[in-house]
Amino acid sequence: MNIYHMSYTQKFVGERMAMLSFKGCNFECIGCLRKRNECDLYAEERKYIDWNFENILTELDELKPHRIYLGGYEPTLDPDLMIIIERITKLGAHIVLMTNGSRIDTEYAKDLKKAGVNEIIIGIKAFDPEKHLYYTKRSI
Ligand code: SF4
Repeated sequence: MNIYHMSYTQKFVGERMAMLSFKGCNFECIGCLRKRNECDLYAEERKYIDWNFENILTELDELKPHRIYLGGYEPTLDPDLMIIIERITKLGAHIVLMTNGSRIDTEYAKDLKKAGVNEIIIGIKAFDPEKHLYYTKRSI
């Protein structure tokens, strides 16, 4: 499991929202904000828990978020991602995957939907192949 951080707010456009942050990325973006700060910049409080998936699920169950965002670095690199999604789907929240899109093809998108993802946000760094390579060190 690549999840290294969880943040939560009650004030996300009138809804409760939790964000699970995943370690690791296959891009090396010049302007990557995660390289500056890996955790939530705006957190007013911090809480430390024994870091395992069951405890994360327990926290989420207590917080009852309307939305759960999967983000951080690149969630799709986590070999456990589908299992994680299947487990958090049972909490009844709207699940949003934030990704650089490098691993998304039709079959993978179908698998994500089947696992329980409701929405995917793809951050496209550049449409021009040369600019993309320069900015991310990865070709499109
Ligand atoms: S894709 Fe996102 S997490 Fe990965 S290096 Fe680029 S900005 Fe950072």
